[in-house]
Amino acid sequence: MVNLVEENLLAVRKQMALACQASGRKKEEVKLLLATKTVPLEKLAMAIEAGETLFGENKAQELRDKFPLMQQYNQVEWHFIGHLQTNKVKYVVKYVTLIHSVDRLKLGQTLHQQLVKENKTMAILVQVNTSRESSKFGVSPESALELVEQLSQFDTLHIKGLMTIGKLNAKQDETRHCFQLLKQIQAQIIAKNFPRVEMGILSMGMSGDFEVAIEEGATIIRVGTSVFGQRYLPDEYYWNENVVQVD
Ligand SMILES: *Cc1c(COP(=O)(O)O)cnc(C)c1O
Repeated sequence: MVNLVEENLLAVRKQMALACQASGRKKEEVKLLLATKTVPLEKLAMAIEAGETLFGENKAQELRDKFPLMQQYNQVEWHFIGHLQTNKVKYVVKYVTLIHSVDRLKLGQTLHQQLVKENKTMAILVQVNTSRESSKFGVSPESALELVEQLSQFDTLHIKGLMTIGKLNAKQDETRHCFQLLKQIQAQIIAKNFPRVEMGILSMGMSGDFEVAIEEGATIIRVGTSVFGQRYLPDEYYWNENVVQVD
């Protein structure tokens, strides 16, 4: 019996393959990360059964709740994709292999201090607010290069690329522009040859726009709704500083 999650996954993978084909890219160049905020464990288990291994959480608390219950699946890997408060850093570095959402120097400093304490390193992406919407986090496009340079001084941080949330509910051109901008910023950073800075990863594209993101060079797409169905909490709960409670 094919369950709904598995059925949705088949459709998403097919769309991914078509978008790769349309833009002359290899399927293997694009990873699917499943965004699991609010998603119950039963549905995560279905995704794992269907062969998925890469998951992303937005909140430290939810990650802490889910992680122990998921350890029976040892092939599963977690990334952190949400706004990261400095007081949550110590929890997050325990569980994840990549943080997509580093968007300010202070956060880099706090990460570095914690990692030094634990004698660890961490792969990170710098989140850029390419849509310039105030409801979203991320460094401004103009300041992204400078932030990368500043973060590169911390030898515990391995900068692996960039992340963005494209403009939502917008015309396709506008969303595409966000992804193109991220790609341009990536090229500018590569040209600077900062020490320890790699720019191989572009994390961009969600349920509504991942095909466009793939066409524009995404190497990780982050998909929730298309696989797990609608969430009961509005995304503002996760994205908007004014709505998110400081927990
Ligand atoms: C929720 C979320 C996603 C997935 O969004 P969908 O529209 O449900 O696919 C991707 N990235 C981030 C940062 C998210 O918070």
